[in-house]
Amino acid sequence: MNLADINEITELLKKNGFSFKKSLGQNFLIDETVCPRMAESCLDQNSGVIEIGPGAGVLTRELCKVAKKVVAIELDERLAPVLETTVGEFSNIKIIFGDAMKLNLKEIIKQEFEGCSRVCVCANLPYYITSPIIMGLLESKLPIDSITVMVQKEAADRLCAKVGSREAGAVTVAVNYFSIAEKLFLVDRTSFLPAPKVDSAVINLKIREKPPIELKDEARFFMLSKACFAQRRKTFINTVSNTLNIDKNHLRNCLAKVGLAETVRGEALSMEELAKLSDLIFKS
Ligand code: SAM
Repeated sequence: MNLADINEITELLKKNGFSFKKSLGQNFLIDETVCPRMAESCLDQNSGVIEIGPGAGVLTRELCKVAKKVVAIELDERLAPVLETTVGEFSNIKIIFGDAMKLNLKEIIKQEFEGCSRVCVCANLPYYITSPIIMGLLESKLPIDSITVMVQKEAADRLCAKVGSREAGAVTVAVNYFSIAEKLFLVDRTSFLPAPKVDSAVINLKIREKPPIELKDEARFFMLSKACFAQRRKTFINTVSNTLNIDKNHLRNCLAKVGLAETVRGEALSMEELAKLSDLIFKS
């Protein structure tokens, strides 16, 4: 079975009465080089892997070939008979029908991956929830080794940007805090059925053992970094004071203590500067 063959996949979906739902980000891969590349870039025969959104199973099949155990989480139960046909032959897979945003992944990892040397996430993500899924995986501090995902190219640029650069956003700061981000390769929009309006990229987030900065209060650090990007055209003082209702004089003093000009923009700050500022601003 070649699921990357547009005729085979179309025939299979038609046979099962399946129609694509745009609202679920259903763009299935039809490029036979992409899935093996994704699977081999993050897994070996002792690894466990969680796939979010197996769709018709094109990536799932490759994961089953390489990994020790695959847990695939799919929201759309209409895909059950399709997946039965495409991955039914493998004994190292468990399919869970549910919302990856709501399931207790910590518990799933504990129950499903005994004997695996490490657990990774590998997925062609539904684009409408790219950031919430990635942030959820990182913030819940799951015992995982890495996250290898296909996302829209623009999202990949932001997630893998350097903190302090023009492409960065609040999500870049969080990704950098929890992981080391790397863009692996680009995937053209014509590699999907139906073809989306934009190109994609596969990225790898290698989970850090220890964050790159020390913080007194993680939650407040992230609150400050979100405020920095809330009004991008404004200075740090204006956007943080407007968003978090903090006195401008206090912010001015904190900037001076870190050696920064009061005209600095929030988006230009480095991780270290943000950390120092958050410790000073929220000092009780
Ligand atoms: N892995 C397949 C591939 O590469 O062809 C399908 C990828 S498609 C971009 C995204 C998949 O995620 C769809 O199958 C969709 O039904 C599923 N999905 C959407 N929202 C989801 C959610 N909250 N939890 C789990 N799966 C979801």
